[in-house]
Amino acid sequence: METWSLLETFSNFDIKKNEPLSAHTNTRVGGPADYAFWPTSLDELRQVVRYAKANEIPVTVLGNASNLIIGDQGLTGVVIFLTKLNQITVQGTELRAEAGAMIIDLAQFAQTKALSGLEWAAGIPGSVGGAVYMNAGAYGGQVDGWLKTAEVLTTDGEIKTLTNDDLDFSYRYSSVQTTGDILIAASFSLQNGNATEILAQMEDFNERRASRQPLEFPSCGSVFKRPTGFFAGRLIMDAGLQGYMVGGAQVSIKHAGFIVNRGQASGADYIAVIKHVQAVVRDKFDVNLEPEVRILGE
Ligand SMILES: Cc1cc2nc3c(=O)[nH]c(=O)nc-3n(C[C@H](O)[C@H](O)[C@H](O)COP(=O)(O)OP(=O)(O)OC[C@H]3O[C@@H](n4cnc5c(N)ncnc54)[C@H](O)[C@@H]3O)c2cc1C
Repeated sequence: METWSLLETFSNFDIKKNEPLSAHTNTRVGGPADYAFWPTSLDELRQVVRYAKANEIPVTVLGNASNLIIGDQGLTGVVIFLTKLNQITVQGTELRAEAGAMIIDLAQFAQTKALSGLEWAAGIPGSVGGAVYMNAGAYGGQVDGWLKTAEVLTTDGEIKTLTNDDLDFSYRYSSVQTTGDILIAASFSLQNGNATEILAQMEDFNERRASRQPLEFPSCGSVFKRPTGFFAGRLIMDAGLQGYMVGGAQVSIKHAGFIVNRGQASGADYIAVIKHVQAVVRDKFDVNLEPEVRILGE
């Protein structure tokens, strides 16, 4: 029995009860959140985080939910969506974005200011917070190459500025994955460039993406990390797993590294496909595929 009520305590905040997460995830999979909260200011976010800590309510922060598989039972506690905290500002060659801004919008904004450095991000469908959390990257670029500082709200409700070094970046990893801090903004140091050339580069990357990735179906992008010395997609293809399907979740025929939702996939379908792919690849090639996507809830 819950002894707290977010709805009553924060009656003027944008909070919903029993919110189906499948409506928000890029896979279209996921059960309900006890509560979903869209802060419109840092102060609102802070108040709810402090209340959650005092009442031992689990908190999950999501960006654009593009790198997630959420279980069919959903998530307990409060799920915080930062999409309304999305301001982007520029000073000289430095861009600052709130965590809920889309990294695609940031790349496009940089292009309009003739700032080069984020072209690789032009097709990544995540938020700035999610991109920093995951140290997202593509086509030879990655967050850690351009990020100067990140502002976080700690689990104690304090605001701190972290440097690039503090974030301890490595492949698809940042220290926030360990500390549990909430990313609230990030600043990137870019370089002066030529707006036409930047745009051409972004368009080229996006054409390559559209020709190779199954963007016509819901997915969470590349499911597995690149194992040292191999490509996950190549191993899965060579194992003959393309098209393998459980329920509505299918190893993409267009790009073996993706698992697409062909209609009514459940979280359990996704997990079953992941486990099967891992087992077959281990068996055939003696390689462990580690998920890149975050798997949350049961
Ligand atoms: C079609 C497609 C193509 C993709 N291509 C790429 C690619 O080229 N390169 C790449 O790296 N990724 C790619 N991805 C994966 C995904 O878009 C990135 O990982 C992205 O950075 C995730 O951002 P998000 O806001 O969607 O994060 P979410 O999926 O919402 O969250 C991911 C994790 O970050 C945490 N998180 C999110 N925001 C915050 C925050 N503000 N504070 C603390 N924790 C937070 C969440 O709790 C979760 O654990 C692709 C995905 C799709 C669907």
